[in-house]
Amino acid sequence: MAKKIPLRQCLGCGEMAPKNLLIRIVKDNKDNFTIDATGRLNGRGAYICRKADCLKKAIRNNGLSRSFKMAIPEEVYDKLNKELIELEG
Ligand SMILES: [Zn+2]
Repeated sequence: MAKKIPLRQCLGCGEMAPKNLLIRIVKDNKDNFTIDATGRLNGRGAYICRKADCLKKAIRNNGLSRSFKMAIPEEVYDKLNKELIELEG
C-alpha cells in the first residue's frame, strides 16, 4: 500500500501539492536557510514548487518572510535561486 503523502502549500503560486513534489526550505536555529532536498532536516520549514518561477513569486509576495516571521536576506534568496536552478536541471 502506498503511503499517503501529505499536501503542502507552495508559497509562490499558493497551490497545494504532495510534499514530495515540493522543495522544503529550512531555517535552522542559527537563522541559516537551506534547501532541504531530503525533507529530513530539523528546523522550521516552508514549501515551494521546484520552479525558479515559484521562488520568484514567493520573493515578490514575501511568502517566505511571512512564513519564517523574519526578513529574508537578499543573499539567501540568491542562494536558494541557484540551488533551485540546479534542481530544475
Ligand atoms: Zn508553486
